[in-house]
Amino acid sequence: MKILIAGAGLSGLHSAWRLKEAGHEVVVFDARDRVGGRTYSTPLANGVIVDHGALTIRSEDHALRGLCAELEIEMIGIGFPVGRWEVGLDEHHTVDEVSWLYEALGARAHARIANGDGDESLDAAFEAVVGQDYRTHPTYLNTTAALSVPLDRLSANGFVAQYFGSVWGSDEHAEDGAFDPGIVEHASRIHGGNQRPATELARRLGDAVRLGSPVVNVTQDADSVTFELADGSTVHGDGAIIALPLPLLRELKLGFALPLQMRRAIDTLVMGASAMANFALETPGRPECAAEPTEWWTACTWASASNELASESAVTAFFGTDPVIDRVLEGGPEVAQARVSAVLPGCTFPEAPDIVITDWRTEEWSRGSYPNWGVGWDPEMNEAFAQRVVGRVAISGADTSGAFVGGMEGAVKTGRIAATQLLEKLTP
Ligand SMILES: Cc1cc2nc3c(=O)[nH]c(=O)nc-3n(C[C@H](O)[C@H](O)[C@H](O)COP(=O)(O)OP(=O)(O)OC[C@H]3O[C@@H](n4cnc5c(N)ncnc54)[C@H](O)[C@@H]3O)c2cc1C
Repeated sequence: MKILIAGAGLSGLHSAWRLKEAGHEVVVFDARDRVGGRTYSTPLANGVIVDHGALTIRSEDHALRGLCAELEIEMIGIGFPVGRWEVGLDEHHTVDEVSWLYEALGARAHARIANGDGDESLDAAFEAVVGQDYRTHPTYLNTTAALSVPLDRLSANGFVAQYFGSVWGSDEHAEDGAFDPGIVEHASRIHGGNQRPATELARRLGDAVRLGSPVVNVTQDADSVTFELADGSTVHGDGAIIALPLPLLRELKLGFALPLQMRRAIDTLVMGASAMANFALETPGRPECAAEPTEWWTACTWASASNELASESAVTAFFGTDPVIDRVLEGGPEVAQARVSAVLPGCTFPEAPDIVITDWRTEEWSRGSYPNWGVGWDPEMNEAFAQRVVGRVAISGADTSGAFVGGMEGAVKTGRIAATQLLEKLTP
């Protein structure tokens, strides 16, 4: 069979490779002039490879780790425990305090679901659990920065369902709401940069990957699928997979209806606003990560993606939500560097600044970083994409990955599931 794929991010490329392995012809179309989408790694002028998109790989990202092993791509520990960097800052809460708070949020969400009380905003849940001054609580600020969306727009129940027992170390999403901090392992990054799985998959797919080719319309009939590209040309296949970021999926013209549950899930997700800034260092810093205490944007220097034996000669800073990005980036790259320097005072920057800033809000083919569940989420939405195939077209991508929404793990998982389900559906 000939399968068309929209999107050469990690998800679309993973699907394509699985289908190719199964003996099918694939053609992958991407709007950009590169593969990898929201994984994007380039060297700074000083030669150090930095990531502008996805940063960390968690211990429980088994599908991604398995794919990297298959592709013979090495991982390196980042050098500090992700998710717990507040412990390093004296004025912030301890692990026990953070754990207590998340446990309380979880218990509240589960009680509300059990009582049939419906959803509430994550902001309201924090207020109920923390009390007065909750908006200056470090965990509130940390959560806002990490999700990159103001918490009054996000679902308290969806947050608990998505993150419980996940970001904090345990292998499984706890179903009974019990909070299990589990063991804390240092997260990983990929030697050579987190874009590498995508570039390696694209290398193996060869000229099946077509860059600079936005898909604008997808139609299907009983026997075939047609992609219309932005230049007006059309391509036909026996089946297709759509693996686009949420805003582009919403915008894509479809000549067929999506099931109501899928449409509701797509409408309920809220795309995050994040920006990343990478600054070259004069001398390598030891791996550490610190958060700015009022806005909780973070700055890290970590084990090197260029040379796993050394510390990195770069600082990566992550900013979440519109006002924080606007404030920190106001004044230009050198002012941002001075702000980072105040957060990581041990860093020495070169006289001639070597800085790359990526504001994902303005990236035409992502229009944001990653989504989270908005208010109105209900447990059925995690199952909205359990069956991904609609006729001859599978809907895929990290942003449609239910409990794993918005991460590289979700991209890899949905890529495999979409390919498997499509073959099951189309193979007599
Ligand atoms: C700043 C930032 C930090 C992040 N941090 C982490 C992290 O620490 N850990 C983690 O696991 N994840 C992180 N993520 C999320 C992770 O990068 C994504 O979830 C994952 O890479 C998405 O993969 P995907 O293939 O589903 O989508 P994408 O990577 O977005 O790929 C979709 C592709 O579709 C293309 N496209 C768009 N529209 C069209 C069209 N009309 N026609 C054809 N092609 C089109 C795009 O160019 C893109 O290449 C982060 C993301 C960002 C931006």
